[in-house]
Amino acid sequence: MHQRCVMAIWTMTTTIKYKDWNLTVDKGVTRNAYNSLTMGSAESCDCNDCKNFAANKDNVYPDEVKGLFNQLGIDYKKETEVSHYCRQTDGLHHYGGWFHFKGQFKGKDCTVPLQVGGHKLDLTPVTENFSIGFRIANSLTAFADKEGLVQIEFESKIPWTIDKGLEVID
Ligand SMILES: [Zn+2]
Repeated sequence: MHQRCVMAIWTMTTTIKYKDWNLTVDKGVTRNAYNSLTMGSAESCDCNDCKNFAANKDNVYPDEVKGLFNQLGIDYKKETEVSHYCRQTDGLHHYGGWFHFKGQFKGKDCTVPLQVGGHKLDLTPVTENFSIGFRIANSLTAFADKEGLVQIEFESKIPWTIDKGLEVID
């Protein structure tokens, strides 16, 4: 009789339903990755747009998204990347960025390939000023194992709350 020795790799995944998505996450791996970071992208940059984003972190994410991130093991204060797009005519500043978690997802992929190459994002509104999307990518990730990551893309519109003199109005 043959005996099989199977090396068990201990993974603990949870499936979370959020809107029309099913997100499967290894929360332990995800939480460890965020715990190992000392700050988010905004704090590691010196520009005024990032300073304004950093000052607004509690307002950037709707409560339901903070709740989702908590379930996924993501620290919302430690975004992987954030960019400032523009100041809108209504005075709000439009930002976009992303996070990662270890796992996979079922449901709409926000990646829209472009004929000229590259892609654009088709995000789903959560509130008037915040939208979200999911795709498989690992851009700039701090995760030690860069395989099997879901990239959460977001866009947020927030006020300028730091020194008005630093705001670029174009
Ligand atoms: Zn910056």
